[in-house]
Amino acid sequence: MEEIILLKLGEIVLKGQNKRYFIQKLETNIRRRLVSFGDFKVYTAQSTVYVEPQHDDCDTAGAFAAMQCVFGVNSLSRAAAAEKEADAILEVAKSYLKDDFAQAKSFKVESKRADKRFPMTSIELSQYVGGELAEAFPDVAVDVHNPELLVTIEVRDFKAYVHAAPVQGAGGMPVGSNGRAVSLLSGGIDSPVATYMIAKRGISIIPVHFFSFPYTSEQAKEKVLTLAKELTPYCGDLTVEVVPFTEIQQEMRKVCPEEYFTIIMRRFMMRIAEEIANRNGCKALVTGESLGQVASQTMEAMAATEACINLPVLRPVVGMDKEEIVRVARKIGTFETSILPFEDCCTVFTPRHPKTRPQLHLVEAAEAKLDIQSLVAKAVEGIERVRV
Ligand code: ATP
Ligand code: MG
Repeated sequence: MEEIILLKLGEIVLKGQNKRYFIQKLETNIRRRLVSFGDFKVYTAQSTVYVEPQHDDCDTAGAFAAMQCVFGVNSLSRAAAAEKEADAILEVAKSYLKDDFAQAKSFKVESKRADKRFPMTSIELSQYVGGELAEAFPDVAVDVHNPELLVTIEVRDFKAYVHAAPVQGAGGMPVGSNGRAVSLLSGGIDSPVATYMIAKRGISIIPVHFFSFPYTSEQAKEKVLTLAKELTPYCGDLTVEVVPFTEIQQEMRKVCPEEYFTIIMRRFMMRIAEEIANRNGCKALVTGESLGQVASQTMEAMAATEACINLPVLRPVVGMDKEEIVRVARKIGTFETSILPFEDCCTVFTPRHPKTRPQLHLVEAAEAKLDIQSLVAKAVEGIERVRV
């Protein structure tokens, strides 16, 4: 039997004039994610992307799982193709959904007819196939209101397709369709979730990590690279920019007042991330800050942090509770890695009494003894790029 994957488009269908552009991005992203599962043909018709295995040795189950992480897809189903003829459709439904019928207590057939030349109406087709299926599977009752198994028949351009209820897709827009941003990726729970949320809006991501060897270990870096890798099913391939941060912290500790350490470090992160953004055509920075979570995440601290740069700072988890962020982290599969016990660079230099409502002119005075420009330039110079 010929099995295929049908992907229903999400917000893209609303795009009017630009629809073609979004669909091309989506198809490109889909093809890239399919590479490791075999040879598939990918094409779009009537707001549906078709993913057709070209050989018997294609891993359709693996491909189906991968497609569930692709942004721009609202829902998806594995379906069997049939000739556009009622009895052919019926036979395919019987054999393809045999296991589903074995498990369900009730079912219903729903038909959609994109091809209006098909001789039966949707209702006639559903009634015919439904009646025959009820005879073929006498233990499964017809229930038009609350069926356990929804048999869907789609009569389309070339073929008819039969499938059970679709599963939910990742939603959002195709990565790369809305530009690029630099995402500040620590080893924590929040920033991978923030990265995922911005990627979901169609943004392609350059992750940046500030690394304070030897204050933080090689394992802490590996942890961040693992997190980045765990984001690739959603974000596509990523190249992490690992920025050496130790010297900045050491210089700061020599000459700056301790209560400003956190905010000064964060301002350096912003400046360096902005430089990376400018070099790569990125239009925003992304952080995992959430209001009130820690001392550096008050409104005043956020204002002082971003005052030294021009690019907008996107904080998608700003209004979320920790619990909500954790829920997303679990869903996308980054949580277990995030809670591995390695120090982050900031924790090493955390002041005992951080300023929670820093005033900008005092922050600027606190960092005035540092040669900011050359420290930033040196850090950027020392960046290591790691493709995950
Ligand atoms: P997270 O859970 O993402 O680590 P957090 O609650 O620990 O966040 P902070 O340590 O204040 O919060 O960091 C706030 C944000 O700053 C992080 O979400 C991340 O975007 C960025 N950030 C912090 N440390 C680093 C780092 N070492 N490298 C890159 N970005 C960082
Ligand atoms: Mg952290």
